[in-house]
Amino acid sequence: MDKKIGIIGAGVAGLAAAIRMAARGYSVDVFEKNEYPGGKLTAFRLGDFRFDAGPSLFTMPHYIDELTKIAGASDLPPFTYQRLETICHYFWEDGTRFPAFADPVRFSRVVQQELGVPAADIFRALEDSRRKYELTGRIFLEKSLHRAKTWLHQDVLRALWQIPSLDLFQSMHAANSRYFKHPKMVQLFDRYATYNGSNPYHAPGLLNIIPHFEYSFGAYFPTGGMHQITEHLVRLAKHLGVNFHFGQQVDRILVEKRRIKGIQVGQEKIPYSTVISNMDVFFTYQRLLADHPMPKNIKNQEKSTSALIFYWGIQQQFPELDLHNIFFSDHYQREFANLRKGVLDEDPTVYINISSKLAPQDAPRGAENWFVMINAPYAQGVDWEEAVPKAKITILRKLERILGQRVEPLIVEETVLHPALIESRTASHLGALYGSSSNNRMAAFLRHPNQTRAFENLYFCGGSVHPGGGIPLCLLSARIVDEIMHS
Ligand code: FAD
Repeated sequence: MDKKIGIIGAGVAGLAAAIRMAARGYSVDVFEKNEYPGGKLTAFRLGDFRFDAGPSLFTMPHYIDELTKIAGASDLPPFTYQRLETICHYFWEDGTRFPAFADPVRFSRVVQQELGVPAADIFRALEDSRRKYELTGRIFLEKSLHRAKTWLHQDVLRALWQIPSLDLFQSMHAANSRYFKHPKMVQLFDRYATYNGSNPYHAPGLLNIIPHFEYSFGAYFPTGGMHQITEHLVRLAKHLGVNFHFGQQVDRILVEKRRIKGIQVGQEKIPYSTVISNMDVFFTYQRLLADHPMPKNIKNQEKSTSALIFYWGIQQQFPELDLHNIFFSDHYQREFANLRKGVLDEDPTVYINISSKLAPQDAPRGAENWFVMINAPYAQGVDWEEAVPKAKITILRKLERILGQRVEPLIVEETVLHPALIESRTASHLGALYGSSSNNRMAAFLRHPNQTRAFENLYFCGGSVHPGGGIPLCLLSARIVDEIMHS
């Protein structure tokens, strides 16, 4: 009994927590309401096409390698990935287009040639990104912010000393406008706010650490597609003896005073000495801990944005497109202002991911699998039945203007994902992709901690709690839970 852990949810953080706990010798049960693992990080087939349903950008692969090592699973199929030479292809309405190479020197050459932006400006921005990451990454991303031990570390003193230069008091957009005079370059760097569902005109300039993830650690593609991350983590967990219970929704966390006694699935009460929730923290409190007050910060914090995605089987190949492609809005500030108001903009930025560029088996010969995404407001009263067909027309018109070719007749398969579906499939409050946004300089402190004083033996991991959303941070949340439990 003493070493029995129940985990609620088989999202990427739940899987990482399961691996860490099983490797420490606990008996681990994972309960997942869906019939499949991965939560947002899942995949499906549509006709002859394969699609990754959610995440498409893979950074910080060493966090997965760390789990492989912890699991000691040298006899399992290896998890492999390739480093991308081109991070993204960018397109604008006025015909400007260029590839952003991962190598900063090649990137700066292209930008100089296409926009006349001095290479030195790029290097300055990337250097600042590195400096901010090195000063704050270990504190804000890798440690619990809610333990005295973190604040006694010498890294904190170094960061506090540098606060005036961390751009906490101005927006990402303002900071980027300081680095660059060219509006397209500002826009390109502003877009990193969307990596955690934030708004570059409100998120603090400290978030400009994000380009460092791509330009220093690199952007990657897992062999076989993003879903291989989930498949690999499940293999590691099973290798360590983790028991998965798919199609089993947890209905309650059983609490006596401050002590967790176990969980309830349907009518069955199952005892556990420790419970880890990978379920969105809002719903963990609302549905599983209904007799306990929900912390104010969970209710009050602004959510991250959501997304509207069209998965299209396209019966043609587009050599001008790559794995990641962005078609920028001409009205970027208005687009974000509208998202905050709960409205889809008339000129949204369109992101297209085409995994068949690197995994040709994902589409039939001569065809491509397009994952076409626009930022969407988290589900707050939008009628998606009405909004989806309108958005489709807007997106098609934009792509046709920029690509100079009709796209609609090429669509041979289609399905759609919108915020309300994201909420119902993964129990993510309001369909937010990354939990809460970072549109506030205190966001890191307001995010729910990985453990609270309210419960002795209940821990939280996943995108809705510290340190935040996105695969790398979700993996770190499981590492922090492990550290809190064992130090
Ligand atoms: P989730 O994926 O939210 O899974 C939680 C799991 O808990 C689900 O499987 C759910 O069914 C289960 N669950 C909930 N309630 C219960 C219950 N009561 N009982 C049992 N099980 C329950 N990140 C990136 O790094 N790069 C990207 O490019 C990227 N793009 C994205 C694009 C889209 C469209 C989406 C949706 C997300 C994207 N993200 C991206 C974000 C990333 O997917 C998430 O941050 C991450 O996958 C969340 O993992 P998680 O561990 O928090 O769990």
